[in-house]
Amino acid sequence: MTTSATPMHTQMLIGASFETGGAAAETVLNPRTGQAILEVPEADAGQIDRAVQAASTAFATWSRTTPAERSAYLLKIAERIEAEAEAFARLEALNCGKPVGAALNDEIPAIVDCYRFFAGAVRCAPASAAGEYLPGFTSMIRRDPIGVVASIAPWNYPLMMMAWKLAPAIGGGNTVVFKPSEQTPLTALKLATILADVLPEGVVNVVLGRGGTVGNALINHPLVNMISITGDVATGKKVLEAAAKSVKRTHLELGGKAPVIVFDDADVAAVVAGIRTFGFYNAGQDCTAACRIYAGAKVHDNLVADLTSAVSSITYAQDDDAENEIGPLISQRQHDRVASFVERAAAQNHIKVTTGGKTYGGDGFYYTPTVIAGARQDDEIVQREVFGPVVSVTRFTEVDEAVAWANDSDYGLASSIWTRDVGRAMATAARLHYGCTWVNTHFMLVNEMPHGGLKQSGYGKDMSLYALEDYTAVRHVMIAHG
Ligand code: NAD
Repeated sequence: MTTSATPMHTQMLIGASFETGGAAAETVLNPRTGQAILEVPEADAGQIDRAVQAASTAFATWSRTTPAERSAYLLKIAERIEAEAEAFARLEALNCGKPVGAALNDEIPAIVDCYRFFAGAVRCAPASAAGEYLPGFTSMIRRDPIGVVASIAPWNYPLMMMAWKLAPAIGGGNTVVFKPSEQTPLTALKLATILADVLPEGVVNVVLGRGGTVGNALINHPLVNMISITGDVATGKKVLEAAAKSVKRTHLELGGKAPVIVFDDADVAAVVAGIRTFGFYNAGQDCTAACRIYAGAKVHDNLVADLTSAVSSITYAQDDDAENEIGPLISQRQHDRVASFVERAAAQNHIKVTTGGKTYGGDGFYYTPTVIAGARQDDEIVQREVFGPVVSVTRFTEVDEAVAWANDSDYGLASSIWTRDVGRAMATAARLHYGCTWVNTHFMLVNEMPHGGLKQSGYGKDMSLYALEDYTAVRHVMIAHG
């Protein structure tokens, strides 16, 4: 079911040519209806190898371009995406089920800005000292590209994850073989046609396929020098195993389970509005989602009541997409996973599902926005990443207890603190083991600031100058004067 309003590109970009995958076809679904959009064949072994070879060949010249030249290419990519913003947004909405307004107004501007940020950043990355550290010798530090990067993306923000991976990698002088999620390849395929137009041959290659086949072949390819992956912790571990064989560099952005500490003096209305937005955006399929709430004893009951009522008003599954605040889950599998987490939680006597907890009856992979009250620290719903429209609330009495519980997680990506007391906010932020802590907000990302985790959330930063550092290697060059 393709529509004439949304032209589909189905071919992979290998070097300068567009090719249909030579291996098994993968069905791409519309999550709103559960119906097939189209079938896209995945890359065969020869195509994966040629994509890596093309990137390797392109590296010889691309790595020697000047920052100004690479900057100009990034600006062109930004301009082309911006010019086709509506088409990209429609395609992303179709493939992911998200409201088209969210894709168009929230995601596309941030994606365009990501390429523009790195276009500036590559030209003014901080320089290091050069000097005479031995008499008669001058030493200098260089930051040079790493080589061929295998970039592997998830399905929750396909075009944005592509931007986060491509812009710092090619900006830093690397070449890339990019693999979108097999569930959401459509915007990557569309962008491939622009990249082929704008960039020299082989700088970015796009191959399609599943993780276990195409992803696995990519991460094990001997000409790949670095693997950058955003995905599940289990996938990150497989990447590390593959990387260990030839000591490839890795950049891992894995899952999250963000704690939200609400102190008794917090502005409850602001907290409720914040969690309603930042816990449920993208149907909670977000690694920073505000999903694990710790509420002070005095504020707890009001918060649960107000949050329950606010979350029950979230709109979805409306025929008029302009009315939708969130979409469905990405797949039946993800829907069933979310539903089973809630079922197991609801089966416990101390837990109360105050709103949601149901499959939406219509077509598509919708799950009702859900609030779970009475959750305890060692409950599965508090410990494990659900990646759906589900938040849990746990009562705390002492700040030490809240901080200990917040840190008692395998994950370490994002967190937030809600209080009117600046000193308390700062003191608590300093004790949290998370890549990011927001105060009186959550989820807000800017291209100038780093995004990345601690613990099993992975390591390596997306966005910011730190991403440029991750995609380049520090080298020492020494010159003898005599
Ligand atoms: P996933 O790990 O299943 O898949 C991610 C990508 O890895 C896909 O392209 C997939 O094909 C590929 N892959 C899977 N197995 C592979 C293998 N053995 N070898 C090579 N590649 C393989 O994750 P997902 O379900 O697509 O995405 C959801 C997950 O991503 C969640 O856990 C979420 O928290 C995480 N995520 C993290 C961030 C972040 O910035 N930390 C951002 C978005 C999503």
